[in-house]
Amino acid sequence: MSISKLFLYDAPSVPEIKINDLAEFIQKQTGINTEVRQEFLRHFHAKEKTFQQLASCRIFNPYIPFERHKPTVEETTFEEQSETTDSASDNIILYDGFEIQNIFRDIIPDSESSVDKFHLIFTTRLTCSYDYNDYRYHGRVVICSNPAIISTTGMIEAPAKPRDYYLQIYKKILHGLNLDTIKQEFKGRFLEYYDERISLVTRGYALQAMFYYLTGSPFCESRKCMLYNAHWQEDLLYAQIEIGKLCDQHQNILDNL
Ligand SMILES: [Zn+2]
Repeated sequence: MSISKLFLYDAPSVPEIKINDLAEFIQKQTGINTEVRQEFLRHFHAKEKTFQQLASCRIFNPYIPFERHKPTVEETTFEEQSETTDSASDNIILYDGFEIQNIFRDIIPDSESSVDKFHLIFTTRLTCSYDYNDYRYHGRVVICSNPAIISTTGMIEAPAKPRDYYLQIYKKILHGLNLDTIKQEFKGRFLEYYDERISLVTRGYALQAMFYYLTGSPFCESRKCMLYNAHWQEDLLYAQIEIGKLCDQHQNILDNL
């Protein structure tokens, strides 16, 4: 497998991605010709039917496998506006990531569907996948294959915050105290909405998506590699920001692709 052209689709409500910098990084790291495009659905002039389909991928009960939802008019309208409205919300909607991937795949025209053309789509939707090991949906930052999807909300919500943080929050809730002081105390130890570090973290996820497509294995065992599959925010920030590069083994693989 090789990629001759990579299309990168922006999430306009998350300027912290810094999509042009990311394209430059990918091009430098991989030598792959990378084209930046506007938001995926806008680029392909998505119609109402597509927004209905997206709304039908919502997950209401995370403990049961996917069941297609019959969307309301409001839910469809919400999807139309989803990528342009503020991405930070207290009311986070879960979506089946593989269902969304199917919808996106159907939109890409045949002329751009050959295996050497790789589409990497940013979305603010929280993509999830059902895990039969514990019978529930989990947030996923990356939905691999082609098109690959990276969820910016997933970066913030999927990897767990420090254990202590949850403990402190729990204590505060028990005592009916304000949570803002806890958030302040732990500030910097996990990604937040509007976080400037999103631009650096996206690099590792983009590489993971590309490694999956090119080699079938997106992850590295080493915390000192951008392909580390972080389940904790602190590991994510360590691998992507403090380390911020591939381990020798993965750099070699990339150099030889
Ligand atoms: Zn590695």
